[in-house]
Amino acid sequence: MNASPNISAAAVRRPTRQVRIGRVTIGSDAPIVVQSMTNTDTADVLGTAMQVAELARAGSEIVRITVNNEEAAKAVPHIRDRLLALNMEVPLVGDFHYNGHTLLTKYPACAEALAKLRINPGNVGAGTKRDPQFAAIVEIACKYDKPVRIGVNWGSLDQSVLARIMDANARLAEPRDAGAVMREALIVSALESAAKAEEYGLAGDRIILSAKVSSVQDLVAVYRDLARRCDYPLHLGLTEAGMGSKGIVASTAALAVLLQEGIGDTIRVSLTPEPGGKRTEEVVVAQEILQTMGLRAFTPMVTACPGCGRTTSTFFQELASSIQTYVREQMPVWREERDGVENLTLAVMGCVVNGPGESKHADIGISLPGTGESPAAPVYVDGERTVTLRGDNIAAEFRAIVDDYVERKYPKKAASAV
Ligand code: SF4
Repeated sequence: MNASPNISAAAVRRPTRQVRIGRVTIGSDAPIVVQSMTNTDTADVLGTAMQVAELARAGSEIVRITVNNEEAAKAVPHIRDRLLALNMEVPLVGDFHYNGHTLLTKYPACAEALAKLRINPGNVGAGTKRDPQFAAIVEIACKYDKPVRIGVNWGSLDQSVLARIMDANARLAEPRDAGAVMREALIVSALESAAKAEEYGLAGDRIILSAKVSSVQDLVAVYRDLARRCDYPLHLGLTEAGMGSKGIVASTAALAVLLQEGIGDTIRVSLTPEPGGKRTEEVVVAQEILQTMGLRAFTPMVTACPGCGRTTSTFFQELASSIQTYVREQMPVWREERDGVENLTLAVMGCVVNGPGESKHADIGISLPGTGESPAAPVYVDGERTVTLRGDNIAAEFRAIVDDYVERKYPKKAASAV
């Protein structure tokens, strides 16, 4: 019941080189990869390893950690070892600013333990130090065979590139506006840094580019242009997206436009967690962007109506929430044991108006009784009404129906395949 129509634009990804990062492939027709970043002190080995593990279990296929000082650089191999002890081979990306050349030279075990290095050309060094320090990091990447993301950010744009582009713009008969100049400087910084990295010996299929800004329209414009001007895989994300619904909406608005045009090979959603909030929220949002667009499937999705005056109790909201939580919690095990279960679709509907129809479109749907309806909840499986639930145990019975369906439709793989 869940076949999606072909999405012609999104189905055609922009052709790029492919980059291997540990066991993950990024670029061209490889699935769009979800990644995230820790917010622990990297020097705290246990705390960082635990958060990486939590992000990986939530579905982050690559996790970035900051490597900002000697303690952090020393900690990196131990973080990797702790993860391996947990049987987690999630590729770790080291985020370097200002002192990456020093840390990577002094702590080769850090370079060796990382699966990828991120260099920000705006923070690699100023003046005459810039090129040698950039070259030093690239040489280490070559020595340890590590791919590199050249990650430009408008908050730390290389000022020498910006000045050069501004000067050239000022000489034009019709100079472009400041926004266009800034966008061009971002792109030039990324492309020139990539060319320089190749000049220093890094293979073209070991380079990923990003050029992040925090405005939706600027991000769309920058990435459209960047995609036209190179064939490196692109890491896509709206930087400093913000908190809560604003961060989610802004990220989704920007990423959806670009992904629909086939632009973007790996994504990160840069959400600011609420105080005490879960870091894994950014992973869930990234997955949901890809899944709701029909680009990848990660976890069974629950369709639920918004409720209205026909639903005077909160029961259907509670059931929709609890079943979404339930299937998400089962996914780490289901994913390992059962092929295709992430494509399962569920519907939890509040009344008879759209309840039966929407429920029939899902693999399993339940149409709860609205205000004034008889207290009965018909359940639909593969479009057919199979049972009507009543009484105080509807949530548990519905969950049992889901478990039974998963058992029948997505049988456990043979032990050797798990
Ligand atoms: S399905 Fe029923 S309860 Fe849900 S929004 Fe529509 S009319 Fe309201």
